[in-house]
Amino acid sequence: MTNRTETSGMPEAGIFNIEKIRNDFPILSKTIHGKPLVYLDNAATTQKPQIVIDSLVEYYTSMNANVHRGVHHLSEVSTKAFEDSRIKIKNFLNANSDKEIIFTRGTTESINLVASSYGRANFKAGDEIVVTAMEHHSNLVPWQLIAKEKNMTIKVIPVDDNGELILNELENIFSEKTKFAAINFVSNSLGTINDVKKIIETAHQYNVPVLLDAAQAINHLPVDVQKLDCEFLAFSGHKLYGPTGIGVLYGKEKLLDAMPPFMGGGDMIARVTYNESTYNELPYKFEAGTSNIADAIGLGVAIDYVEQMGIEKIAMYENSLLEYATAQLQKLDGLKIIGTAKNKCAVISFIFDTIHPHDVGTFLDFEGIAIRTGHHCTQPLMHRFGIPATSRASFAMYNTKDEIDILINGVKKVIEVFK
Ligand code: PMP
Repeated sequence: MTNRTETSGMPEAGIFNIEKIRNDFPILSKTIHGKPLVYLDNAATTQKPQIVIDSLVEYYTSMNANVHRGVHHLSEVSTKAFEDSRIKIKNFLNANSDKEIIFTRGTTESINLVASSYGRANFKAGDEIVVTAMEHHSNLVPWQLIAKEKNMTIKVIPVDDNGELILNELENIFSEKTKFAAINFVSNSLGTINDVKKIIETAHQYNVPVLLDAAQAINHLPVDVQKLDCEFLAFSGHKLYGPTGIGVLYGKEKLLDAMPPFMGGGDMIARVTYNESTYNELPYKFEAGTSNIADAIGLGVAIDYVEQMGIEKIAMYENSLLEYATAQLQKLDGLKIIGTAKNKCAVISFIFDTIHPHDVGTFLDFEGIAIRTGHHCTQPLMHRFGIPATSRASFAMYNTKDEIDILINGVKKVIEVFK
């Protein structure tokens, strides 16, 4: 069997113990179609370390009780674990206060919360929302919904052929009419790391609040909301080695405080009569109903794991994988990389003129290699590049140079078979 932990020749491989890391993720030792799994679909979701899986079992085995409402022991224990996780997230993002950390189901729900709550309260006909040309549908459709309701326009920061935003256009895009900017931090289709700081600075010159979609940034880059000075930031736990079904909305306290609730129900109220209600304080005002307690706790454990590795070290290691994979893929006949920005991380999208991405993906699957093919929930971006889909390999801290070699050999076989 191939040794999938081979890292020789990787200058950065010594940054951390890759073999130990791989042993922390039980799924990585699986075989698929009789071949060892090479998991390169990390932009879709990351695998989970055993301690995260254990935390879920531990929660349901010894802690399960509803939070906030109980005076009994188990409720106190689960409330403490749940709120401790919120504090870990607050520290991870360097937020000012744990009131600024709202638990949601994921990036999509976080963005819908802001579009619906902030948008309904603050937008009016004729206003404009700025997005980028590389938004995931999750950071586009919620804004289209509110724009349609309020009769507003969406303005798009364009992207060049390398997959870099054309920031010279910012002056033409922002105006007195702009009332919000919803901006992709790292592109899930191209891997581009956008200069969000510059966009935020420009937006603030027009008093425009900015939401960052950090779904693809959170596990690859240090994210400091105070340094960024963004008004809102959204991410999903499952892309940060945590469970599915849990995500985070960060928002500046002053803005969240002024916003109306997103959903009504238990936990988000202060007083209720038959005709009206007053609402709970932050963050609970935005957490109607029973939260996803176990997975929120699991996310805290995932953050502990990432912090123990160090996000800077993870970034450096993943960059070495990206550079190696890019150099190898570029050598292959007829292969074109989509997304060649100078500042990229962990994602390579590629196409062939004559081979459909779905054929690439299906063929590689038989080799045990998991990549993603399709439009990656960025149909307007695919349209911009004049392509229907790409094949996308995306990396995480547990991938190795050896796995990239297996990918390259797999793609060579695809070329051989389909040429
Ligand atoms: N934005 C980006 C950039 C993403 O990559 C994704 C997930 N592919 C999302 C938003 C949506 O995340 P989720 O499905 O976890 O809500």
